[in-house]
Amino acid sequence: MLISGINAHICNRCVDQAQLIVAEEDKLRKKDSIPSFKLLKPSEIKTHLDQYVIGQNEAKKVLSVAVYNHYKRIGRKTTVAKTSKKEDDVEIEKSNIVLVGETGTGKTLMARTIAKMLQVPFCIADATVLTEAGYVGEDVESILSRLLQVADYDAAAAERGIVFIDEIDKIARKSDNPSITRDVSGEGVQQALLKILEGSIVNVPPQGGRKHPEQKMIQINTNNILFICGGAFDGIEKKISSRLQTNAIGYNIGKDQQAIDRENLLQYIAPQDLKSFGLIPELVGRLPVLSFLNPLDKDALRRILTEPRNALIKQYVKLFEMDEVELTVDDEVFDYIVEKAVEFRLGARGLRSICELIMLDAMYNAPSNKKHEKINITLEYAQNQLNAHNLGRLRVA
Ligand code: ADP
Repeated sequence: MLISGINAHICNRCVDQAQLIVAEEDKLRKKDSIPSFKLLKPSEIKTHLDQYVIGQNEAKKVLSVAVYNHYKRIGRKTTVAKTSKKEDDVEIEKSNIVLVGETGTGKTLMARTIAKMLQVPFCIADATVLTEAGYVGEDVESILSRLLQVADYDAAAAERGIVFIDEIDKIARKSDNPSITRDVSGEGVQQALLKILEGSIVNVPPQGGRKHPEQKMIQINTNNILFICGGAFDGIEKKISSRLQTNAIGYNIGKDQQAIDRENLLQYIAPQDLKSFGLIPELVGRLPVLSFLNPLDKDALRRILTEPRNALIKQYVKLFEMDEVELTVDDEVFDYIVEKAVEFRLGARGLRSICELIMLDAMYNAPSNKKHEKINITLEYAQNQLNAHNLGRLRVA
């Protein structure tokens, strides 16, 4: 096919080829330019987090400062490299983070929100599937493969990304494991993680896994990748409590030590508790920023339903709006949903499943109804819906 211009013609093949050249050039240019994003101050980062994450003030603060320092550190390095000034002798170390808190309290949400705000590649890896190289399971490098995929195979972008490693507590050393059997999914993985957490050049299989042995490895420098680890660390309260108790013996019992809040021991967490839990000291050392998340109480659950920028209820209102239906929900329905979530021990994740059940019939019918309808969810309607769809099956044993 020939496309005519003013003085010449161009054929479809040349158009295709020209497009490829333009795309290739664009990619190269992107790689060369040093990424510049506006570095937000810690208070600005926290304000942003506040819009999405309810409560968890302490963790938000710690995270904001750590992220700020991390990206400041990257910025400083690039300016030093750019101006070819001799690097001064103060090297700022990387501040990987570990967040401890029950499941469903907002660990992943926080990491995801920060990555989105910074517009850097973000991926979630699950520590439970990792095993030592050579064993059934995934190699630690697979985490970086995922980050690379998210970054559209742009290694430079991936090198500034954020990785959230979930369930880091599941690779704790099984202390009573006799050392004759190798601990391939525990200590071995921790050893392997050390290398990528610290900052080194890692050969990453772009397709991930070991299924494509012929693939060309891509080198990724993990020096500027921020790792945020999360875990529930079930039972760590016992370790904290026994540490606090040993500290409390002696002549120097300060006043502050008597005011220990036994209900929420997690707030006293310290790196040595992670060690007693079974993380090797080297790994704990490479996760220098430690914070905790509080369990969510009724009040927090209620706020999660309606307050965050993308709160569940707001999402349903939007969904119905697309069908030109106006959705309103009575106040007492919120309390009812929260009550059920607590009763069935479903936590914040359960709010969603409960709402789905309540809204199911309305969502089923709304598109076929006439336009400009109004739907108001009353307490009675919600109760009937939950009974009709058998909420009981969601119960956590
Ligand atoms: P985890 O701590 O297990 O990583 P998530 O961050 O994945 O938990 O939370 C699961 C869901 O619960 C989130 O997607 C969010 O909708 C809701 N949620 C949990 N905690 C909060 C919170 N503090 N504020 C707002 N929403 C929350």
